[in-house]
Amino acid sequence: MRSWTNYHGHCNYCDGRGEMEAYIKKAIEYGMKNIGISSHAPVPFNVDWTMSPGKLNAYVNEIDALKAKYADEIPVYKSLEVDYIPNAISVNSAHIRNAQLDYSVGSIHFVDFFKDGTPWAIDGPVDEFKSGLDEIFAGDMKAATLRFFQLQKEMLDQAPPTILGHFDKMKMHNRTFGFFNEEEDWYLKEVKETLDLAQEKNVIVEINTKAIGSLGVLYPGPEIFSFLKDKNVPITINSDAHDDYKLVLGFAETAQLLNDAGITQCFELLNGDWQAFSFNKDGIFFD
Ligand SMILES: [Zn+2]
Ligand SMILES: [Zn+2]
Repeated sequence: MRSWTNYHGHCNYCDGRGEMEAYIKKAIEYGMKNIGISSHAPVPFNVDWTMSPGKLNAYVNEIDALKAKYADEIPVYKSLEVDYIPNAISVNSAHIRNAQLDYSVGSIHFVDFFKDGTPWAIDGPVDEFKSGLDEIFAGDMKAATLRFFQLQKEMLDQAPPTILGHFDKMKMHNRTFGFFNEEEDWYLKEVKETLDLAQEKNVIVEINTKAIGSLGVLYPGPEIFSFLKDKNVPITINSDAHDDYKLVLGFAETAQLLNDAGITQCFELLNGDWQAFSFNKDGIFFD
């Protein structure tokens, strides 16, 4: 029996669209093996796409209630996509630990701050990206990218999550503007060091399909798959769904690309343990 899973998805507690329960019902409709809910964790700033701090208790309670409600139909896992901002938030923050997650997704969205103290989100609208790049890094994309990877390595070292979310997200606007060539040595060195550290820390690296339909981009994409294969990095395929119907968006295509690169196993949470299973374009082989 082949089916999919998804450990990275949002809902209307943050910038996802639709109720949490709608995602669970859709996962059942799709015949998925399990579903993890991972809204953006609250951050100590005013940001309109993360969960507001006052909603965290209700979020936790709702997932716990839905876990029980759907126990006979599908395992529902409680998670958060947690940012790493030095001295501000990480998976080790008290409010994250108190949520008693089944697993965590750790992602870098913020790279330092504007002069007025606003954090710079690197995957927001183009205008915000350009103004942060100009104001904080004097327009130097290499410096900004090195800082992104530095923060990410710091997260892996000091507050490792279960899953590393979209670890090369910094290429999002690079693909639009062509600031640098992703085959340059300095860039590939950062990629390799990140993957080495993730492996050393037993962190699963996500293959994020969110933008495969809109931008034709995977985070990371086929250009990196040979590293994943050579280093035998543990992976899992996630869609980072912000709509319930996108829970397995691009999975077949992505699985085929991974198989083509010689990657045939992914890590899945089953009965409380992360275990390796074989997969192909039709799904993961659970038996
Ligand atoms: Zn993210
Ligand atoms: Zn996300």
